[in-house]
Amino acid sequence: MTPGDIEKYIHTINIYKPDLIRGYAGSLYEICRYAEKNNLDIYSPKVIVSAAETLDDEMRDQIERVFGQKLYDFYGSREVSNLAGECEDGLMHSFAFWNYQELLDGHNHPVKQGEEGKVVVTNLFNYSMPLIRYEIGDMAVLGPEHCSCGNVLPTFEKITGRITDHFMLKNGATVPAEFFIHLLGVVCNTGEIKQFQVIQEDYDKIKILAVVGAGLTDEYRKDVESKIKVAVGSDCEITWDFVDSIPKTATGKYLYTRSLVRK
Ligand SMILES: [Zn+2]
Repeated sequence: MTPGDIEKYIHTINIYKPDLIRGYAGSLYEICRYAEKNNLDIYSPKVIVSAAETLDDEMRDQIERVFGQKLYDFYGSREVSNLAGECEDGLMHSFAFWNYQELLDGHNHPVKQGEEGKVVVTNLFNYSMPLIRYEIGDMAVLGPEHCSCGNVLPTFEKITGRITDHFMLKNGATVPAEFFIHLLGVVCNTGEIKQFQVIQEDYDKIKILAVVGAGLTDEYRKDVESKIKVAVGSDCEITWDFVDSIPKTATGKYLYTRSLVRK
């Protein structure tokens, strides 16, 4: 997503005048930051939905200010799809009819309202591969039993643990974390790599931590490197660090991407 791309997107939005805009939190944020910095007007849709990445307060403020509209956060996952969506009153309602979700503490006891717990999911409609009390690796804070919006679905105050960083490039462009998750996730699915973490150490310096499985070939590595270079830049330096395990965060979260550039 280069500055040129962002201008194209804004132009398209202004011509098309969509009712709904749905995007990665980080991408919506970068578009809005760019528009504000360059005094560009963007058409205000009826609904904006942010998904796939963690939305922090600064990102929400920026997006709502520039689009002049309330933003609705959405929580989903690759494994079990839709998990929760934000209501008008700002709580996340869990889609309990589709995925039954529990928030549990370190001893696997349910947390109380206002407390943070790990999200444990039981998928009710997957007849091919049952996922029962599956720890999805995210954290959330339990909300009140009743929401003022009238919706009876259980609530989360917020989803706290979906931490993936998008990468900021020198020219102002960004590469979403999802890019690396899809790219290396394919290698994971075929067993060459068991676990990975992509770290942006500097604008043009990327380190891939990998727990290697069976038969990771040079060809595979070169393929991954060449695809990263297309997204990040041809002069990007890519190093591999083969490790026994990927370190987790203090809250036990396993991060696919980390950027040390924007910290
Ligand atoms: Zn509500």
